[in-house]
Amino acid sequence: MNALGHPTVDPNGASSRFDPADLADGTDASRGTFVSPVFVKPSTASRSYARNAYLDPIVARPNLAVLVGQQVTKVLFESAKGQTRAVGVTYANSSTAPTFAITATNEVILSAGVIGTPQLLELSGVGAASVLRAAGVPQVVDLPSVGENLQVRAKSICACVASRALCCYRRY
Ligand SMILES: Cc1cc2nc3c(=O)[nH]c(=O)nc-3n(C[C@H](O)[C@H](O)[C@H](O)COP(=O)(O)OP(=O)(O)OC[C@H]3O[C@@H](n4cnc5c(N)ncnc54)[C@H](O)[C@@H]3O)c2cc1C
Repeated sequence: MNALGHPTVDPNGASSRFDPADLADGTDASRGTFVSPVFVKPSTASRSYARNAYLDPIVARPNLAVLVGQQVTKVLFESAKGQTRAVGVTYANSSTAPTFAITATNEVILSAGVIGTPQLLELSGVGAASVLRAAGVPQVVDLPSVGENLQVRAKSICACVASRALCCYRRY
C-alpha cells in the first residue's frame, strides 16, 4: 500500500490522533494503512484471549490468587509526610454481601478498564474535587484529569484481497 502512495499509520499511536484542523492542509496523520494481525495460534488454530495468553501460563505461581466473582469497591490510601500511597482495596461479592479488605505489600495495580478504572478512582476519592464533592465522596487527591478525555476512535476500513500471500496469515 505504501508503494501505491498510502502512508502507514499506527492505529493505536499518537499519530492516529485526529485533528480536524489538519484536514484543510492535508497533513492529518490519521489517514493511512495498517496491518491488523489475526490473534490465532497457528499450531492449535485457537483464538488467543486474555486468560489463555496471560493467566493460564502463570496460574501455578504461589504468589498469585485470583478471586472470582468479586468487585473492588474502593482503593485504600494512606497519607504520610505529604505523600499519598495506595495500600490496598476493599471488595465484595455483591452490594449486600460483606465487604473485605486486602492490603498490598508493594503496590496496587488498578486495571479495571477504560470506564471502571476512573470510576473506581473517583469512588476512592481520587478525581476532580468538584466531581467528588457533587457525589459526596471524601477527597483524597484532587486530580482533575481522572475520568476526562475519553475518546472513541472512529474507523473507516477499506478491505481488499491480495493477489498473493503478503505476510504470515495462512488458512487452516
Ligand atoms: C467493542 C470493542 C472492540 C475492541 N476490539 C479490539 C481489537 O480488535 N483489538 C484490540 O487490540 N483491542 C480492542 N479493543 C480494546 C481492548 O478490548 C482494550 O484495550 C483492552 O481490553 C483493555 O484491557 P484492560 O485490561 O485495560 O481492560 P478490560 O479488558 O476492560 O478489563 C477490565 C476488567 O476489570 C473488571 N472490572 C471493572 N471494574 C471492576 C471492579 N470494580 N472490581 C473488579 N473488577 C472490575 C472488568 O469486569 C474487566 O474484566 C476493543 C474494545 C471494545 C470495547
